[in-house]
Amino acid sequence: MKKILIHNGNFYQPEKWLTPGFLSIQGGVISAVQPGEPDQEAFLQAEQVIDANGMAILPGLVNGHSHFSQSFMRGLAGGRPLLQWLKELIWPLQSAFSKEEMYLASLLGLAENVRGGVTYVVDHHKITHTPEHTLAVKKAAEEIGLRCTIARAWSDRGNNPESGDAILDELEGWYGMQQPDSKVTFASGPLTPWRASGELIQKTHAQALRYGSFSHIHVSETLAEVEMTVEETGVRPVTWLDQLGILDEHVHIVHAVWVDEAEIELLKERNALVVHCPVSNAVLGSGIAPVGKMLARGVRMRMGTDGSASNDTQDCIENAKMAICLARAGHQDAANLTNDQALSMLIADRTIAVGDDADLTMIKLDTLRSAPVHDLTSAVTLCAHAEDVDTVIVAGKILMQNGRLTTIDEEILIKECNSAIKILKKRAGIDI
Ligand SMILES: [Zn+2]
Repeated sequence: MKKILIHNGNFYQPEKWLTPGFLSIQGGVISAVQPGEPDQEAFLQAEQVIDANGMAILPGLVNGHSHFSQSFMRGLAGGRPLLQWLKELIWPLQSAFSKEEMYLASLLGLAENVRGGVTYVVDHHKITHTPEHTLAVKKAAEEIGLRCTIARAWSDRGNNPESGDAILDELEGWYGMQQPDSKVTFASGPLTPWRASGELIQKTHAQALRYGSFSHIHVSETLAEVEMTVEETGVRPVTWLDQLGILDEHVHIVHAVWVDEAEIELLKERNALVVHCPVSNAVLGSGIAPVGKMLARGVRMRMGTDGSASNDTQDCIENAKMAICLARAGHQDAANLTNDQALSMLIADRTIAVGDDADLTMIKLDTLRSAPVHDLTSAVTLCAHAEDVDTVIVAGKILMQNGRLTTIDEEILIKECNSAIKILKKRAGIDI
């Protein structure tokens, strides 16, 4: 692996950016990060030197929630609310996916994530008709080179329920494939509290903990869902998960739009991770999550784009801006979600430090959109777009440089996806 030197850029640190600064990568990890310019020796030792003039260098962006299959389903919501959208379009398309289509949709979703500066993404993987469909996602992620957790979605209630034993057996197999240095890992992905039984959520969560993994579940995305859970269990969804004993630091609560004061307190007390998906929540008219309040109470939070069927892209920078705008507009408070808080969520509260994996995102700020830069954090969160991402590095390997993906031919992929979606829609009986 190449010894890389990045210099003459603006390097993120939580208290004060290093401007200018430099950074060295050796053996896939960060071996130096300092203010100023490197000495001549550092230039001589580097096998590749990147001049980051006019760029922000961040810990790699994290996309905390996606569905790669939905890369084939953009722009189809057409004003439908969540449940109608799922029943009329998303579920019929999902059930018609072949493993080849799953592979192509995954490549498309992954490539878009790299192009948008993401170095780690959680795919809540729903197309689980056969293990080969899940292997198709793994293959795509390994080819692209991104870090990815495949949270194998499951449902043992409602339409086409799966057997609990089959789900546990399959997950056991996926966990068994993980190696300590695997970039692609697995997790349990119960769909929602109303599609998953409490008993199986408990069992799959205990299994995930045995393998150092986690549970990843949609919770309280819409008010209608909350009412369904209250009617059935007598308590709200977050409280129900707590009563099951699985609300802990190893659970991802995706959405949390409709959480009340008591639930926010529970999320904080149990140190659960909330994944905020503001664009998706806005597109589907689901609501505005109380993100400012949750952060103020000390709830751990990340951002996710959600699938491209409800976003309708994987642009994490746009997602952060939407989080800021919705939080402030929704509360008539310009400080409800600060730019610093939004950026911290976007990079999963990480920093750039010696010894860390070299997962980095470099964003051009000498653009018409961002110049002149008065404040780097504002420029990244309010001015920049995904297309301003110049370079993405994962474990010291360059996946994109000068705006060009290095592990895949983008034009060929788009052509193949355009052909595949026509056949898939026909098979699913969708005529839009
Ligand atoms: Zn989702």
